[in-house]
Amino acid sequence: MEKIPNCLICSSDKFIPFIRCKDYTVSQENFELLQCSNCNFVFTNPRPPQSQIGKYYKAEDYISHTETQKGFINKLYHFARIYTIKQKLSLIEKLSPKGNLLDIGCGTGNFLASAKNNGWNITGIETDADARNIAHQKCSTTIFDEEQLDVLESQFNIITMWHVLEHVHELKQRISQLKRLLKPDGSLIIAVPNCASYDAQHYKEFWAAYDVPRHLYHFKPENIEQLFSTYGLEVTSILPMKLDAYYVAMLSEKYKGGNFLSAIWHGFKSNWHAKFHKYTYSSQIYIIKHK
Ligand SMILES: [Zn+2]
Repeated sequence: MEKIPNCLICSSDKFIPFIRCKDYTVSQENFELLQCSNCNFVFTNPRPPQSQIGKYYKAEDYISHTETQKGFINKLYHFARIYTIKQKLSLIEKLSPKGNLLDIGCGTGNFLASAKNNGWNITGIETDADARNIAHQKCSTTIFDEEQLDVLESQFNIITMWHVLEHVHELKQRISQLKRLLKPDGSLIIAVPNCASYDAQHYKEFWAAYDVPRHLYHFKPENIEQLFSTYGLEVTSILPMKLDAYYVAMLSEKYKGGNFLSAIWHGFKSNWHAKFHKYTYSSQIYIIKHK
């Protein structure tokens, strides 16, 4: 296990215990989440080092790495994905005329393939070899491992990381790379779960978006703003991902031994609560630009 000695956002070495969570999907092991006393950033600490994290993704049904449609939740996930991809495409087209698109953590390549069909010049990065092969076939273009980020020379109009930043071990290095790869007027789109959401408060240690130890960081909006600001980047808008409240509630109820109706109720409640409390949706999209 690897211990983080200093907060990755503010460098403080003062942490307080935040919550202890179980890995319900793969290992059934428990992990500690600590909170920085200075900036309130919550992160998994200690965490498996990068060389060991692979085994925690080895669930047959780790959903974004497979095309499985077994089971009710997976069926819903795949149905929702069609709708979500349309929304993502309409978002990038609002931010930029067609151009170079880099999707980091493209999974099996559904978003990237749709973007290509819509006229984007695509580049995809995926660490999981099986997912990468599926994406390669789906997009009819080479999908790269993350090492490629160091050598990419082109700059991009749009860079997307859909539920990916919370998985990245070398966080600071990644943000420097993002800054280098983003065109001066380009937009970086980061989607991450929000541990300041109603559903996080409600489900506590059962909240599925803690997803330890795969999720190394548990961001709140102010953490994202502070983190990117250090690198000369700024959050220009924050958008909701409303379907995530239902998806996360369904998984959380499953871990808790709850039921489907309860998930629908709390998913709805999360979105309702967020209507009146700024930046508290279950998952949020941050649009980030050069300062
Ligand atoms: Zn801190």
